[in-house]
Amino acid sequence: MPVTDRPRTIHKRAFQVFTSAWTLGAIVLTLVVVAAVGQLAYSYSDELSGPRVVCLMYHRFVTQAEYDALRGEDRFYSIATERFEEHLRWLRDRGYHTLTTEECLAYLRGAFTPPDNSVLITIDDGYLSTLTRAQPLLTKYGMRATLFVTADENARVFSEGRPRQRRLTNEELQALDPSVIDVQAHGFSHRPLREMSDDDLAVELTASRMVLAKATGRAVRCMAVPGNHYDERVLRKAREAGYDAVFTSDAGSLDVGDDPFGLPRVNVAGYFDAAGVAAILDPAGMARRRFIRTMTEGPKQLLGAAIGEPVSRAVSTLFATHPPSARHLYGAMGLLALAWAVPVMARKKRGQRAALRKQAVACEINDRSNEGETIPGHS
Ligand SMILES: [Zn+2]
Repeated sequence: MPVTDRPRTIHKRAFQVFTSAWTLGAIVLTLVVVAAVGQLAYSYSDELSGPRVVCLMYHRFVTQAEYDALRGEDRFYSIATERFEEHLRWLRDRGYHTLTTEECLAYLRGAFTPPDNSVLITIDDGYLSTLTRAQPLLTKYGMRATLFVTADENARVFSEGRPRQRRLTNEELQALDPSVIDVQAHGFSHRPLREMSDDDLAVELTASRMVLAKATGRAVRCMAVPGNHYDERVLRKAREAGYDAVFTSDAGSLDVGDDPFGLPRVNVAGYFDAAGVAAILDPAGMARRRFIRTMTEGPKQLLGAAIGEPVSRAVSTLFATHPPSARHLYGAMGLLALAWAVPVMARKKRGQRAALRKQAVACEINDRSNEGETIPGHS
C-alpha cells in the first residue's frame, strides 16, 4: 500500500465508525418513536373503547388551614375536606355512581353491569380522618368507598408526611359504617413488597389480611400495594395468599375481563379542583396519563435505575410542563428526519468524493499511459 494512502484509510475508518454509530442511534431513536406512537395509539383505543370504570385514590383528609401549610408531596397525598366535598358534589351532579368493592369485582368478572358513569372511590392507609372527615361527607352524598388499611398501627407511614395522623384504632375500624366504607388490606407494615424475601412477603400478605378481618369481623378479599412497589412475584404471592384482587397506582381505568391482579388507580391530589377530577374521568385524558406513565416507567425498566431514573425524570418534566400534544409528534418526526438525514447525506457526499477521486486517478493513468510511462499494477 502506498504510504500516502494511510491518512485516507484512517479517515475512511473514522468515517465508517462515525456513520455506523450515528445510524445505530437513528435506529434506536426510530424504535423509541415507533414504540411511543404505538403506545399512545393503544392507550387511546383502549380508553375510548366503551364505558369503563375509573378508580379514584385518596389518602389523608385535612382542614383547609392544614392544607395551606403543606408543601411538596404532602399536597399530593392530602386533601382539604372542602375540596373533597367539591369532588363529591361534582360527581353527584353529573350522575356518577360509586361502586362497592364487591360490585367492582363482579363487574370485572362480567357478572354485574354497573350504571353508566360509575367510579370506585378508594382511600389508602387508614388514617383517622377517614372516619372523622371522609365518612360523613360520603354519607351526605350517598356515596361509598373502599378503604385500604395498613394493618400495623405503628407502621412508619403513620409518622411520615404532614399533617401527622394516626391510624384508626381497631375499635374505630369497627365503627366505620360498612354500607359506606369497606375495609380491605394495604400491607402489614407498608414496607415495599417488591423488596421482601418470599417468606417475608407471605407473612406480610397473610398477616395484614388476618389482622383486619379480625378487627372488622368481615372478610378481606382485596389489597392495594403500598407505594406501588410490586412486580409479577408480588401479584403471584398475593394470589397464593388468597386475595381476589390487587389494586396498584398505575394509570388507567378498569374494563370487563381485566385481570384483577394489577388494577390501576389514579391518585387525586389535594390541588385538583372539580375540573381536575373531570380530567381524570375523561377517557382521552386517561389515555394521555397512561402514555406518560409508560414513557416514564419504561426507561427505568429497560435501562435499570442508574441510567433509567434520570431519563424518566427528564421525560416526566417534559410532559409535566408540556402535556402530550401534536407538537411532540412533529418534534419527534423532525428529530427522526434529522437523525436519518445525517448518515445518508454523509454517505452520499463521500460517494461523490470517491467517484471524483476515481475519475482523477483514471485521468492520471490515461495521461501517464499516453506519455509511455509504466504504471505499477497496470503493466
Ligand atoms: Zn399507602
